[in-house]
Amino acid sequence: MNVSSSSSSSAYDALTAPPYALVASPLDYYPAYHFPRASLLSWISDKDLSLLMPIVIYWGVSLIFQAIDSAEIPYFERYRIHEPEEVKRKNRVTKRTVVLMVIVQQAVQTALGMYWLDDEDPLKEVFRDHKGEMEQYGIWISRISFALLGPSLATRLLRTCGQEMTKFAYWWAIPILQFLWASFVLDTWQYFLHRYMHTNRFLYRHIHSLHHRLYCPYAFGALYNHPVEGFLLDTLGTAVAHWASMMSTRQAIILFGFSTLKQWTTTVDSHCRGIRYRSCLATTWPTTISTTSSSVSRRTSRSRTSRTGTSSSRRG
Ligand SMILES: [Zn+2]
Repeated sequence: MNVSSSSSSSAYDALTAPPYALVASPLDYYPAYHFPRASLLSWISDKDLSLLMPIVIYWGVSLIFQAIDSAEIPYFERYRIHEPEEVKRKNRVTKRTVVLMVIVQQAVQTALGMYWLDDEDPLKEVFRDHKGEMEQYGIWISRISFALLGPSLATRLLRTCGQEMTKFAYWWAIPILQFLWASFVLDTWQYFLHRYMHTNRFLYRHIHSLHHRLYCPYAFGALYNHPVEGFLLDTLGTAVAHWASMMSTRQAIILFGFSTLKQWTTTVDSHCRGIRYRSCLATTWPTTISTTSSSVSRRTSRSRTSRTGTSSSRRG
């Protein structure tokens, strides 16, 4: 895009005129994390990686904690909340059923992802007109600097670090804001839907109560849901967050992976106390990354329990 011939402000035109510009030369404007190739990994496309990532993270993290659970290592045993016998006695669902239901949900989420995510040539995304887009960012950085600092100071600032500001805004600030916005959208979506499933008797009895049959958590039980709930709460929620934040496929790899990890920690962490609903109400993002093996979790549990008044789960 030819910025100087665009309808941008005359102030910006003046600023970008030689001897300086707000966008560096192509060799300098890529950040370290940008890999100019069709896919991040040679053996899998970015789209497939974004769909595989949540599954790998879910089962990878779960297996680590399952191994700790089974090994009964003395160090971790000190922090165990539910005794193994208690888990067997209280849970109204077998491990095998939990695994099967989680696989069903992951199959549905992968299928929707195949449909949802762009099938366009990945090179188009990777080699899109970054320079042109950065020049657009430069226009706004220039306008904001002028408005906030006045012409003299803004000119000095843009002359000395205008390129770095543009580069930072394009490659870091906006992607980080997109990620925070997507997390907010997903959290809000899940919070209110989950809350509604507890207040609506029909939904609780016929859909959400299934999830609460798992009274003491298995490490891999975070996604044990009724298929309808799994679709609405997790799969659709993530798709909406992805859509609302206008992320690229590569950004989706991080979003899908992180939201799985976050959801895993939230759900398993909360279920360790048997108060998923109530602790969910008291949870702020990001949640404590802790499970049965964390003393921090125990402290948090006590404080949350005292805030919410009870540690019993609500059941329909
Ligand atoms: Zn619930």
